[in-house]
Amino acid sequence: MSKELIIAGNWKMYKTPGESVEFIEALDRKVVEANVEENVEVLVFPPFTSLYAVQGAASRVKIGAQNIASYEQGAFTGEISPLMLKGLADYVLIGHSERRHIFGETDSQINRKAVIAKKHGFTPVVCIGETLEEREQGKTMERINQQLNDGLAGFPPEEVVDIVIAYEPVWAIGTGKTATPEQVQEVHAAIRDILKKKSQDANKNFILYGGSVKPDNSRSLMEKSDVDGALVGGASLKIESFFDIITNSSNPVHR
Ligand code: PEP
Repeated sequence: MSKELIIAGNWKMYKTPGESVEFIEALDRKVVEANVEENVEVLVFPPFTSLYAVQGAASRVKIGAQNIASYEQGAFTGEISPLMLKGLADYVLIGHSERRHIFGETDSQINRKAVIAKKHGFTPVVCIGETLEEREQGKTMERINQQLNDGLAGFPPEEVVDIVIAYEPVWAIGTGKTATPEQVQEVHAAIRDILKKKSQDANKNFILYGGSVKPDNSRSLMEKSDVDGALVGGASLKIESFFDIITNSSNPVHR
């Protein structure tokens, strides 16, 4: 990947197809008009029901899916298979903390989803992060290690670099509590060290931070050497705040 920074918006269960098209067209226009550097990947994860509608709405903004089934087809009511997503998304979000904690997804399911997403040509964005309890018990690194090792199990070394990791401490998601840039850098550096044991290209892996990223804190987070972008929830639902995060983070260029 020739990109240096990924700024991604996770819309969760918000926006109809019509609202999604309107947003993505307007965002794309702003990104093009502002000449946001080409090495900044701007990415949006709309709900499944908007993916078809937003095709062709953007020239510059990339589209991702919020989830994927771990099977290609079969009797899995309500699931969306990789075959159905082909041509509709470039990236797939896997193991978001809401999938893990509300819907009970396990590290091994997340691994199967990452494997099938990669097999079908999507870039998996694998989310990891500790709960408040785990942090308070000093178990952050243990949890990160386990999520990475289980989540990326079976990937050949040459494919590890194609997986985007999103570090999202559960206690910082949607709570307004952002991890400090120093806390984030510490965990990101540890994530990179784990990736280095799996691949000699780990310096090129994208490691995004997510958890209450806002226009006023994005630059200080993105300036850290092992932070290669942001996964933004709440602040990605409004064009102004999402666009401000994009421009604050990318100007000056990350590194
Ligand atoms: C998220 O949903 O991935 C997220 C980080 O949400 P928020 O930015 O609202 O904390």
